[in-house]
Amino acid sequence: DGAIDDKSVRQRFLKKAAKSLDGLDVLVHDLLSLSQIEAGEVQLHPEPIELDELITDIFDQFEGKAQKKSVSLALVENPDAIVRADIKLIYQAFVNLISNAIKYNVEGGKVKVHYKLRDKTIDVFIKDSGKGIPSEDIGRVFERFYRVEKSRNKIKDKGGTGLGLAIVKHILTRHKARLAITSSVGEGATFTTRYAQAALVKSVK
Ligand code: ATP
Ligand code: MG
Repeated sequence: DGAIDDKSVRQRFLKKAAKSLDGLDVLVHDLLSLSQIEAGEVQLHPEPIELDELITDIFDQFEGKAQKKSVSLALVENPDAIVRADIKLIYQAFVNLISNAIKYNVEGGKVKVHYKLRDKTIDVFIKDSGKGIPSEDIGRVFERFYRVEKSRNKIKDKGGTGLGLAIVKHILTRHKARLAITSSVGEGATFTTRYAQAALVKSVK
């Protein structure tokens, strides 16, 4: 509408258009990975993965976002926490879970990751001190496009597509891992993922 000729608004309009395109790009990418995983088109390349290293990498990636909200990121390390998984997919799953733990946290909140190792399983807990998820929504957050507060869509920086957890669930299912949520409103949420112990992993290492 001629805005391109108006020097005073041109830059702002272009920035807005670029931002919308970034959003579409994320949406298309998420939809693609969801449908590929669902259709079984994604081949797994399982390998032993040290969770300490994986989580530390993801924390490094989100350091800036966490600092902006004064959210602290803590990992209780355990070098024996090793799973057999597809590195790309498991990385994507943890990125989703950790980004949620930061995004839905409160100013000055905490995110803590720890494990519980048993004979046959490894549990990974991602615990945040955010607003939590109302019990009536817990069963639905894995549905594609489901978001607890629809108004969250409009809040800057929180405009997710609601596909993150649907993708996480599919990735974990492909790994025969399980996912559980516990949460009470006002006290935060804990996402627990359970993997089979990577038997013989230590000898592979
Ligand atoms: P996307 O991950 O696609 O960018 P999203 O974060 O909105 O968008 P999901 O990750 O699927 O989508 O999460 C679905 C909804 O579950 C979120 O919109 C939010 O309402 C709720 N939710 C997810 N994780 C948490 C959490 N740790 N604390 C509170 N609410 C959460
Ligand atoms: Mg998300």
